[in-house]
This record gives sequence, structure tokens and C-alpha cells, in this order.
Amino acid sequence: MYVKTISSSTHSQFINITSLIEEAVAESEILSGIVTVFVSHTTAGITINENADPDVKRDMLKVLDRAVPWEDPEYRHYEGNTAAHVKASLMGNSTQIILENGKLQLGMWQGIYFCEFDGPRQRKIQIQILGK
Ligand code: ZN
Repeated sequence: MYVKTISSSTHSQFINITSLIEEAVAESEILSGIVTVFVSHTTAGITINENADPDVKRDMLKVLDRAVPWEDPEYRHYEGNTAAHVKASLMGNSTQIILENGKLQLGMWQGIYFCEFDGPRQRKIQIQILGK
């Protein structure tokens, strides 16, 4: 297993981690198999989406903020970060990518994103690569 650490700067941010995952793949020397990317955090997520137009990232964050506002008088969670927990579950905490001939089989427009919903923080990304 590989562990990569990243720093987020805001409480609502998508960070492209595709190159970090490619680094782990290269270190593993595994050419074909399955790559699992997992975050063990309750206020952050992982998603795969557009890596060409940066406005997609911006628009997604905007939609998430609109759907799940940071403040709501009905939230009860004592930490005050209910929105971050909800958004993390909406994105999910892992993804899998097929690895073939040493290359992640991402589509031309796809990137792997770490989704920060409660930063700034230091975060840990776990990567498991199974194959040969
Ligand atoms: Zn909390």
C-alpha cells in the first residue's frame, strides 16, 4: 500500500491527484491490475471527473455548496461541519481505476480528484495496487 499526503487550503476544494496515483503505480512496478484510491476521512472524498475545463471543478463545487449550505439552523452536529460530512458522502470515499500496460485507463478528459470539504488540513490518501 502507498500513502500520499496532501495539504488543502480551503474548506471547499477539488485537488487533482492523478499524478500522485501515477507515481504510486510507477513505484509499484505493477503493469496490469486494479488501483484503489481511498481516503479514511469523514469530511473529504474522492471523485473522477473532467480534467480539461477548470470551470467544471468550479461549477461542481458551486452546485455542492448550493445543495448543502455550510450553515443551516437545523443542523445539530456539535463540530459545526455537517455540510462537510454530507458532501463527503455524496462524493464517496474511494474509487477504482483499471491499470493496463502500466497506464491508468482514464478517459481522455478524466482526472482523479481529492475533494476537500473541511480544510485547510493535512490529508492522507491510501493507494492499493493489485495485479502483476
Ligand atoms: Zn464533524
